[in-house]
Amino acid sequence: MAADPQVVEAGKTVASTMARILVPALLIMGAVAIALTYFFTKLDKKVDNFISQRKAKKQATQATESCPRCGGNLVVRSGRFGDFIGCSNYPKCKFTKKI
Ligand SMILES: [Zn+2]
Repeated sequence: MAADPQVVEAGKTVASTMARILVPALLIMGAVAIALTYFFTKLDKKVDNFISQRKAKKQATQATESCPRCGGNLVVRSGRFGDFIGCSNYPKCKFTKKI
């Protein structure tokens, strides 16, 4: 039994319409996935850089500076408003400064 040519034709049209919609959709999804991966990789590196820069800054500060009031060592402390430099002789010396 031969297939009805009209049905075959309709089937082809549906298939090509699906392909026309699906192929770009898959391409877009692929591109979005690649873009997201790229973005997050970049972001990760930025965060890493930021953290290591801050660490380097802290270490440099600790290594090179001493308290201008008492001559004691300056150390990095964490407070309510974030990190700051404070004197190691606290509470005797209350010298602080921003990082
Ligand atoms: Zn001090």
